Parts: sequence; C-alpha cells; structure tokens
Amino acid sequence: MKLDQYLQELTAAKREVLLGRDTADPLHEAFASKRVVHAGLIGGPIPQAEQQRAYQKALGRPADLNRQHALYIHIPFCQTKCLYCGFYQNASRQDVEDAYVKALLGEIQVEAKSSQMEKTAIDCVFIGGGTPTSLSAANAAALLKTIQQSFKLTQNCEVTLEGRIHDLVPEKIETWLQYGVNRISLGVQSFDTTLRQRIGRIDTREEVLKRLQLLKSYDVTVIVDLIYGLPGQTMDMWMRDVQTLAEADVDGMDLYQLNIFPGGPLDKAVKNGVVPPCADIGGQADMYVAARDYLLSEGVERLSLCHWRRTKRERSLYNTMAKAGADVYAFGCGAGGHFGGISWMNQRNLTDYQQDWEKGQKPIMMAGHQVEAELGRVCDGIISDLEKGFVDFRRLLIADSRLEEVEQVLSLWQERGLLVEDLGIYRLTRSGEFWYISLTQSLVECVQVLLDEEAEAPAEEINGRTTDALDEVLAEMLPEANAAKRQELASKIPAAVRMMLRRSSKEKLRNMLAGMPAAMREKMLAKAGV
Ligand code: SF4
Repeated sequence: MKLDQYLQELTAAKREVLLGRDTADPLHEAFASKRVVHAGLIGGPIPQAEQQRAYQKALGRPADLNRQHALYIHIPFCQTKCLYCGFYQNASRQDVEDAYVKALLGEIQVEAKSSQMEKTAIDCVFIGGGTPTSLSAANAAALLKTIQQSFKLTQNCEVTLEGRIHDLVPEKIETWLQYGVNRISLGVQSFDTTLRQRIGRIDTREEVLKRLQLLKSYDVTVIVDLIYGLPGQTMDMWMRDVQTLAEADVDGMDLYQLNIFPGGPLDKAVKNGVVPPCADIGGQADMYVAARDYLLSEGVERLSLCHWRRTKRERSLYNTMAKAGADVYAFGCGAGGHFGGISWMNQRNLTDYQQDWEKGQKPIMMAGHQVEAELGRVCDGIISDLEKGFVDFRRLLIADSRLEEVEQVLSLWQERGLLVEDLGIYRLTRSGEFWYISLTQSLVECVQVLLDEEAEAPAEEINGRTTDALDEVLAEMLPEANAAKRQELASKIPAAVRMMLRRSSKEKLRNMLAGMPAAMREKMLAKAGV
C-alpha cells in the first residue's frame, strides 16, 4: 500500500498538515491553518540554458486540438498599492506604460505567427494584473486591436479585463467595448468607505455604486470581487457588503478570503497597530458560511465555491478552462502559462522583461516540463471538481486503479465531517467547502504519491512556514540570510514557481542557483533585507 506507507512515514506534524485533525468543530478547526495555494502542477525544472530552445520547440509544434486554448495577458501597473496585496509590481507612469505596451505588442505579434498559435481557435482572453483598466485609452485600444488582429478568436470568445472602479469613465469604457472586451471584473473588495480607505482603495461607497451603475448602462458582463477578513471588518460590515452586492446590478461575484502575506505591509501594519486586527481563521470561516447561506437563500447561483452569478451572462470561461487544464498562451511581465509540454513564467521585473525582449528572446524567468499527461489530467480533474464542491471517486478509479488507495483519505475526511459520500461521489459539507483549498492540495499530493514515481515528500507548511529542500539550498547559497529571511524570500517566489522548485532535487536546485548572476543574488539579498 504505497499511500499507506507514505502516510506512515510522515512526521506527525506533516501528516496533520496533509490530512488535518480530528475535531468536534471541523468548520473552525479541521486544519491548523489554510494550506498554501499552489497554482497547479509543474514537472521538473528546465535549466536556464535550455529554456529558450524548449520554448521555441513548443511554439514550433501544432496546437493540441483536443484542448481548449486561452490567452493570458498581464498588465503589471497599479495607481496605488493596496495594503493586503501580494501581487503589486509597479506604480503606473505614462512613459513606462508606453514602453511596456510596445514590448508587449511585440511579444504577442511575433508568437501569434508561430505554428502553435497561428491557426488556433482562442476560446477566451483574460487581461489581468496589476490593474489593466489603468492603461490609457490609447494603449488599451492598441493592445485590444493587436489581440483581435493576431489571433483567431472564437465567435463567442470571452474577453475579460480586470480592474478598479476608479477607472470606470466613459472614454475608457467605450474604448474597451469597441475593441472587443465583453466582461469586466472589478476588485471592489468592500463597499464600506472607511474600510476601503484603510486598505488603500480610493472611492467612497457612493462613488463605487455610481460607477457600477454607469458601467451597467453599457452592454457588458460585470463581475465584482469582495474580500472577507479585512482589518477591522466585523460580521455586520461583511454581510452589509454581501447584501449590497446581491442587490446591485452585476452579473457575477467572487467572494475571496483574505490572505495575509507574512512580513508583508498588512502583516506589519497590524503588528504595529496601524490598522485593527483581521479576523482569525475561525472568524473567516463564520464569514464564509454566513455569506454562502445568504446568497443561496436569495437564489443566487453558485458556479464554484467562491464564484456566484446573478445572470446567465456570466460564464466565467477563463477560470473554468484554466483550472480544467486548457492550454494558456501567456504574454507580459509576470505572466505564466503552459502548452506543448512546457510551463513557464515570464520575468516579473519590468527591466528584466524589457531587456530580454530587446535581445529578441522570450522573457522567461522560470520554466519547467508540464507534468506527465495522465497525472496532469487526473489532478486537473480533481482541482476543477473540488472547486465545484465534490470529488468523483468513480472517475479516479476509471482513470487509474492505483488511485483506489485515495479512498482511505476521502473516508477519513468523511468521518471528520468534511465530506459526505453518495454512490462514489464525495460532496463537501459546509466545513469542507471552507477548507477546500487545503483538501485540494492534499488530495493532489496523494495522487502524486500514487502516480508519480519521482514524487518527493511535500514541504512542511505550518502557519505559513516552510522547511524543505528549497530552504536548505537557499541556506547554502545565501549563508547571510537567517531562517526568517529565507522564509520571506521563499514567500516572494510566485506560488507556481515555488512548487516547481520544491519538486526539484537538491542537486538540481544547487545547479540552478549556482548559475545565478551575482547581480541577481545581490538583488535577492537586498529584497530579504540582508
Ligand atoms: S490593484 Fe490589485 S494588484 Fe494592484 S495593488 Fe491593489 S490588489 Fe494589488
């Protein structure tokens, strides 16, 4: 029994991270903390010297017509930095934006002519950030026109632009719609004026509602995100936000749990008493359940555990397709994608991105092989199903009989009040829904143990702390950095890349980091404050 043996060999602490704990109150205590969200599975890393060749090889192959195809385009600018944000990259500045858009259009135009992309039908486009709506109308028009002219978008193609309420002015809205945007996703986070300003948002509640109304006077799908667990946010404030949104004229909504990045600005602001504390994990669980029950009672349709729709206009194609394993062609500073056997992430630093592009090469920061096809398919299926609230054990058995062993984990979670089984389908209970990211990550790791001969023991993650091969190799390479600094450094590596690094052997990691240019090493140390 491979999984059984694996579980036996884990330390008690690691086993608890993986399986959770036995408690009479699973909603609040099933796990000690939420597991880190990993963006997906990535196979072994591709050495830096081989990355360009591997990428060009993938571009030279015809597209896999059995898959759907999406474009992801990243705009790494924001007008202001939100207190809780772990994704902020650069402040908006017109001259910098102009130069960036020029490089971005070049990257798109060159690759769109490749065998991989030239004739491939694109089912959805997602322009994310950062704050894509912060682009000037002229730059937004140039980008959208380039997308339309360079790719074969399907007739029903969903074209999403992410952004902020503050940018909703007629000149910009009309430009976006004229050049094909049909879905706008807005990070409102809260309608409460005091809370909004506390976290770095600009507009008042009245202004937010007025601008939303303006946007809905156009023919476009509107999605609004809210966050629960913000500093000083009470249950009353949260439920007022949810009710306001349920009554607002929007097509869909996302309700996200606040993530506090250790050592980040919000963490520091709370510790220094600059802002009131945030809800703890138990408080967040109560907020999740209260909003969930309210929206269901109001007849709002749930598309996934955190995504809801009020009208049928909302399709949420990009999120659904990306989670279900569609090929994603990605462009721009900090964008990441996967197709043709390769997963990669572009440079996150704007200067590095532009310099690489000027040298005529794909601005790759990290690249890895996509996981072996069967393992990837099974894991994509688990991620996609759990997002909708269930695990189909029958499908796992059909995919590979070795997955029979997964049942012991599912049964354990059923005993612990996180799942309920019915004819081979395990549905999440309300408690299970709140912990679904932990369950997803753990289940994917169990599947890896059973199907991936090279799987390594998962990193130990307790309250955001990680000890693993990556940490040990960082300690060798950066002896000046103590454990806390190394942890801070690791937390700054994008989740997908971190996952890839953790799946490497120490030997591979040493080779990769040994080739790190001195300037990059200095930058890493400076970032960690060493
Ligand atoms: S707008 Fe979005 S990406 Fe920019 S700082 Fe705020 S949360 Fe972060």
